[in-house]
Amino acid sequence: MAQMLYRKWRPKRLVDVVGQEHITRTLSNAVKLDRIAHAYLFCGPKGTGKTSTARILANLVNCINPIDGEPDGNCNICNEFSNNPIDMIEIDAASNRGIDDIRDLREKIQFTPNLFKYKIYIIDEVHMLTEAAFNALLKILEEPPKHAIFILATTESQKLPETIVSRCQRYDFKTIPFDVVVKRLRDICDSENAVVSEEALFLITRYAGGSLRDAENLLEQAIVSFQTDLKEDQIRTLLNLDSDEIAIQVVEYMIDLDIKKTVLILNKSLEDGSNPNQLQRSLLEISRAILLIKSENINQLNFTENIKNQLRLISEKVTLEQIVKIIRVLAEYKTDNKIPANLGLELVCIEAVIAVKNDHADVVFTPQDKKDQNISKVQKPSLGKSNNIPNESKINNDNHTELQDVTKTSIKEDKKNVPPPDVVVSSSEKWDELIKRLSKIKGKRFNIGALLRDCKKHQIIDGKAILEFTHKANMERVESEIEDVRVKKMLSQDINEIFEGDYEIVIKLLDVSFGSESNKVATNSHLVRSAQSIGALILEEKENINDESKNDEASPGISKKHGENPTRN
Ligand SMILES: [Zn+2]
Repeated sequence: MAQMLYRKWRPKRLVDVVGQEHITRTLSNAVKLDRIAHAYLFCGPKGTGKTSTARILANLVNCINPIDGEPDGNCNICNEFSNNPIDMIEIDAASNRGIDDIRDLREKIQFTPNLFKYKIYIIDEVHMLTEAAFNALLKILEEPPKHAIFILATTESQKLPETIVSRCQRYDFKTIPFDVVVKRLRDICDSENAVVSEEALFLITRYAGGSLRDAENLLEQAIVSFQTDLKEDQIRTLLNLDSDEIAIQVVEYMIDLDIKKTVLILNKSLEDGSNPNQLQRSLLEISRAILLIKSENINQLNFTENIKNQLRLISEKVTLEQIVKIIRVLAEYKTDNKIPANLGLELVCIEAVIAVKNDHADVVFTPQDKKDQNISKVQKPSLGKSNNIPNESKINNDNHTELQDVTKTSIKEDKKNVPPPDVVVSSSEKWDELIKRLSKIKGKRFNIGALLRDCKKHQIIDGKAILEFTHKANMERVESEIEDVRVKKMLSQDINEIFEGDYEIVIKLLDVSFGSESNKVATNSHLVRSAQSIGALILEEKENINDESKNDEASPGISKKHGENPTRN
């Protein structure tokens, strides 16, 4: 393979440019009608055909016998294009970005072309030019010589001065669809007599992320390294990629809220030499695949059937909202010098679990589940129904700490003889109904319904109605209001009626921490952000100190002042 594949396979006609028909058709028609502009701007992601299209356009406008809006491929001019034609000047603005380079260009542009009708200037990565260079370029574009055509290409059009953009005919290249890239690679393999498995082509295409040039280069590297009969494993070796299995496993543990196993497998993979950035990318890819399944777009998945089946099963354990949360948190991962990359990845994964965990607020456990110290399952609700929790989803037992901490305030009401049901998952409709009724009750100072809106977690368990508040101040207001027997009675009546039982009311502060291990992590500012994202409030440092001295239950993650690091006992 003497020639680079992407050079060898570089399209020679507009119709051969892959995946940009909206552009190539327009250009072809324009040239047919002799409507040639003096400045074109090609924008779009790398490897999507901007430079190839620019070269074909350069050829086409100069071709002596164009046929139906395409170069004939046969005339003197077309033959010139098999080498580097003297009248086509390609400038890489990344390395020639200064005013002198553009001045030089301005002098030379006055000379008429040697051979061609039009002298073509292709300026790649044009956004890299300096301000002075842009100004000089603008002067040229304002009055270009009749014999000159500029084709500016950029991956970051937003960085171009508007004055430049407005002088150009603009074309936006789009990312090439997955199956189009795969088909293209398949065609190349066939022509090169290379046997490459479909899984291998899928992996190359996924890795190239919509850049045909990258995909073609990778394929070439693979063929050079391993000859023919290429399998997925060899591509993974070449790219130093983990198998999808690791990312799938990590995502599944996160969905299962199993922090221990999540961290364990992450650690092992990183110790075995996985690159944290690549692993994060794989985690995002798998999470996105689950998102596509949840949003009924499974046909868009670029995975093999085997992996699709695995992902389909996992997707049944998670809601759309939860997977969106996981993706958002994972996407925030970036390496910086503040913490080691491995730790950073572990932290975002734990944060993702916390985010999903907070989505499980309505889920409660039976006493039986509490006894099971391994993995508990959510019981089918005996009253009301859960809107978003799949019945079979596994919840790690660290949830139990929240349930055992029910000690803050409790007001015992006279109990009737009807035993309350063991477990109730309080549905959001019932809760809405409760708020609606309580909105009609005005306490000593506050509207009770309005106060209850700050109750972000509410559950009925073991004959208790547990109301957890995000803000300490609101919790105390409720406590103070229900000191009034009349108010307490009305609240109690409404809860008992709506949740069909006889409940003791328990009021407490929402505890976003879980277990001593994670408390240590909770002082990290990432977690503070996590807590804030679910509505936690950063209190003043002064109040924080008071809270600490009172041994308040509030999580340090909530009361901690952002960016500071109070000492803890
Ligand atoms: Zn020609």
